[in-house]
Amino acid sequence: MPSFVINEKCDGCKAQDRTACQYICPNDLMILDKDKNKAYNRAVDMCWECYSCVKICPTQAIEVRGYADFMPLGASVQPMRSTDAIMWAVKFRNQKVKRFKFPIRTTPEGTIDPAAGFSTGTDNLKDTHLRTEPGSLGTRP
Ligand code: SF4
Ligand code: SF4
Repeated sequence: MPSFVINEKCDGCKAQDRTACQYICPNDLMILDKDKNKAYNRAVDMCWECYSCVKICPTQAIEVRGYADFMPLGASVQPMRSTDAIMWAVKFRNQKVKRFKFPIRTTPEGTIDPAAGFSTGTDNLKDTHLRTEPGSLGTRP
């Protein structure tokens, strides 16, 4: 089952240029209806139910309901992110709810150095060593 947006909960990411669900969808499926300020999945048959949009939506407005063979009607799975963990609320068909919390990182948010100490200067592109790649990197015999 593809993702779908609960209109009452979607605030259009407060009219930012790009919504969180647009940003995260690896299939570029989410669209914002600017007149209604509501997002929707524009090609439901292309959704692979990766849950990325569900996890990132700040208002928990997106749901993916699983196929009835593994998620019976009336059941649901809803994740809620914090800065260091994600909580999955699993509602069973008999309406019993179980919650599972998992850590999602080991370092404080915002502390990652993307370049990991390596230079990112464009001068590196002019380095004469590059002309010998990939042999000089030892990635090819
Ligand atoms: S991320 Fe959530 S609140 Fe933001 S536009 Fe998408 S569905 Fe709406
Ligand atoms: S579940 Fe994944 S593929 Fe489907 S709309 Fe959301 S982010 Fe895109």
